[in-house]
Parts: sequence; C-alpha cells; structure tokens
Amino acid sequence: MCGVVGLYHPNGELAPRLTYYSLFSLQHRGQESAGIASFDNHIRQKRGMGLVTEVFNDEDFELLAGRSVIGHVRYSTTGKSKLENAQPFVVKSKAGYIAVAHNGNLVNYVQLRNELENEGRVFTTNSDTEVISQLLSKFLIEKKDITHALERLNESLVGSYTLTMLFDDAVVGFRDPLGFKPLCVGRIDEGYIVCSESCAIDALGGKFIRDVKPGEAVIIRDGDIEFVKIAESERKAVCIFEYIYFARPDSIIDGVSVYRARSEMGKVLARESPADADFVSAVPDSGITAAIGYAQESGLPYFEGLIKNRYVGRTFIMPAQSLREASVRLKVNVVRENVKGKSVVLVDDSIVRGTTSRRIVQMIKEAGAKEVHMRVGSPPIIAPCYFGIDMKSREELIAANHTVEEIREIFGADSLAYLSLEGLLEAIKRAGGGRDYCLACLTSRYPVPVPGEECVC
Ligand code: SF4
Repeated sequence: MCGVVGLYHPNGELAPRLTYYSLFSLQHRGQESAGIASFDNHIRQKRGMGLVTEVFNDEDFELLAGRSVIGHVRYSTTGKSKLENAQPFVVKSKAGYIAVAHNGNLVNYVQLRNELENEGRVFTTNSDTEVISQLLSKFLIEKKDITHALERLNESLVGSYTLTMLFDDAVVGFRDPLGFKPLCVGRIDEGYIVCSESCAIDALGGKFIRDVKPGEAVIIRDGDIEFVKIAESERKAVCIFEYIYFARPDSIIDGVSVYRARSEMGKVLARESPADADFVSAVPDSGITAAIGYAQESGLPYFEGLIKNRYVGRTFIMPAQSLREASVRLKVNVVRENVKGKSVVLVDDSIVRGTTSRRIVQMIKEAGAKEVHMRVGSPPIIAPCYFGIDMKSREELIAANHTVEEIREIFGADSLAYLSLEGLLEAIKRAGGGRDYCLACLTSRYPVPVPGEECVC
C-alpha cells in the first residue's frame, strides 16, 4: 500500500504544489512518510516521516520548483518505517538522474539485491524500491532508452510494481503486466498527471484520460504524452482489496467505481446472510459503503452506531500491534442513543487480525445493544499478501487460524457471516468488472510464483 504520483506542468513553480495536493488526496494509501522529487537541470527532493501536511511547507515548494515531478506516500511492507526508506529514491549515474516512487512489493527482492551487490553496487537502505532504482540505472547505462530500461526491468522483477519515475525531465508511469496496483492518467491545464487513483485527478480539477493498462508505460516529456506497451500478459491480477477496502470509494479503477463495487458487496452480503435486527450500522469509515448497500438490499434502516475520530490514522496502517490495540478506543466511539436496547447489524469491509472488530463488538454491547450481528463485506482472509498489503503471515490472520464460529465467539457477536467468494465476484461483476483479480489472500493460490505457496500461474 502506497500512493504514487507523476506530474508534468509547464509552470515549474506550480508543479510541486499540485503534486502535494494530489498526494494529499492519496493520503489514505500511506501515512508513514511522504516525499516529492522534481527535475530542473538536476533532481531536488524532500522526504519526511508523517502525513503530507506534516512533511511539506511553503518554502519547500520554492526549492522543489521544476516542471517534472513525482511524489509518494508510503506505508512500509518491505523495509522498516524510517526516513532512509521514504520515497522517492534518487539515483545519479552515467545515464543521468533517476527518481523512483513505487507501489507494490517484490517477491524476488533478496535475490535481485544479492546479484546487484555481487556486481559491486552498494545499498543504503533495505527497501525493494532501491533495487528497482539500481536496476534502472544499470539498464539505462546499457542503452540510454526508457523503453529498453523498462523492458529489462520487467524481465527482472517478480511481484507487484506500479511505478512513477523521473528520467531527467521525463515523467514516466509504469504498471506491472498483471496490473496488481492501479494507475491512471489525467489532464491538468496544459499538463498531465499519472497517479494511483482517479480521486487525485479530481482533486486538481483535472480530466480523467484513462487507466494505464497492465504492462503499459506512459511517458510524458515536454508536454507530450505517449503510451508504450512494455510487456504483455494474457492474465491480469488486479488486487481485489483495492475495491474491498483500500481505494477511496470516489475513485474509479479499471473502469469500475469503487463505491459501486463496495455497495454491491453489501447488497450481495445482505442476500446471502440476512439478519433479524433493528438497523444496519457500519464500522467507519471503510465499512460505510458496504453497510449502506446491505441496508438498501435488506430494507432495514441505516444508522450511525459508531463515530470515528477522523484525526486518528487507520489502525490497519500502523505497523506495530501494540499501537493498534491502544488506538481502537481513540478511533471510534459508540452512539449509545442509537444502540441501546437494539439489535444491530454491524457491517465491516473486511477483517484482518480481528483486534479492532473484537473491541468494537465489546464496546457496542457495553453500550447496551441487545444483539450484534457482524457482517463482513469480503470472504475470510486466510493467506498472507506478498504484493504490498500489510498481511505478512498466517499467524496474524484470524481467519487462517479459526473457523467462522470460533471467530464469532472471540468477538462475542450474536452472529457472524462473511461474503462468499462467489458473492464477491458477483458484486464486482454487477459493478462492471471482470474476473481477472488477485484473490490470493482469500484463496491461498498466488498469481505469481512465491516460494512455499501454491501458484495459479
Ligand atoms: S494477496 Fe490479497 S491483498 Fe495482496 S494483492 Fe492479492 S488480493 Fe490484494
């Protein structure tokens, strides 16, 4: 989970500021660090720990002036949460300047790093994005051609890699051939933006052009834009969790409205697992859209049973378990008035570790609810993600270690039901999607080879 932006604007003073605004609208994709790199004869950059608004100030935009800019918001999957691992990564070589912002995770990171170290390359961090930067530098020295470098890069990498890059003044976006993570292009004034989600284009008042296709690069130089096919794949493996939880509901990914998809998940869930209750409520914020869909389909009213403190970060993103547990009460509180003496259908988008869900069910019961019927807008998460979402091992996944009935007992809920896998695919289809998704964390069958795991490749 990270957010990436590449932006070209003829007004070099405006470009970094526009990048900042677009990163702000992608803040939900990562809250640990943020960074911007720009090119104006050479690369300048500013990176820092924390939220976008905490990292940059007015003076930075003057220092970062340049027409070609990339930006990044990060949460860590490979590499620790510290400043050295904040992105973009900048490399200067004989081939010129390269800056890289990466959303995804490499499965063959260790092998690639060992190979590069054996060739004499020195690493300053333990981030897989530095491996990508070093490979790009190597391939550009072989032949100073962006298409060649991306083709060679693509031959080397296994995993998920949506990238925005600067090659001197060229702004480049690239999406891996399976298309794990989203990337789209928009027009802004006389410039262009390439970014993780369409909400960042909307935030700048821009016009959505189209999604970058899996295996495709977009190259923006001197105000001209070019789409180049780098690699072809008959299969796609777009992360289903972008629709379930991760992307903003106002974004459209690969032609599918995230809002519509999430709402359909709630509707199918209501048909599959109805509940005898007084009203439907959501675990805010990410459960709201599915909960409204559930309410619409079931005919039950929708009320707010929980209120979120919007200034607390998403607990899912915080890397340390101790921080997660302490933050639940800070994050949400119960509207006693609504739940007291009532039977509540509580809808969440997904359950990873179960820590938050258990606390929330307890809180609603303590506030006097008669019954809590938990409904989950995705199938049980039974396997780790190796492609950039923070679900690293089976040990931490509650559904990998317990049956649905055991989980219900742990939560203290009166009933518990998940959306079925078929129901999930039906919901995506009803929202206009296909069937080419990565479902590995729900099925334990992976779309690329992962040591020790079953592959469907
Ligand atoms: S394993 Fe799950 S979270 Fe990871 S990319 Fe696939 S669908 Fe997304």
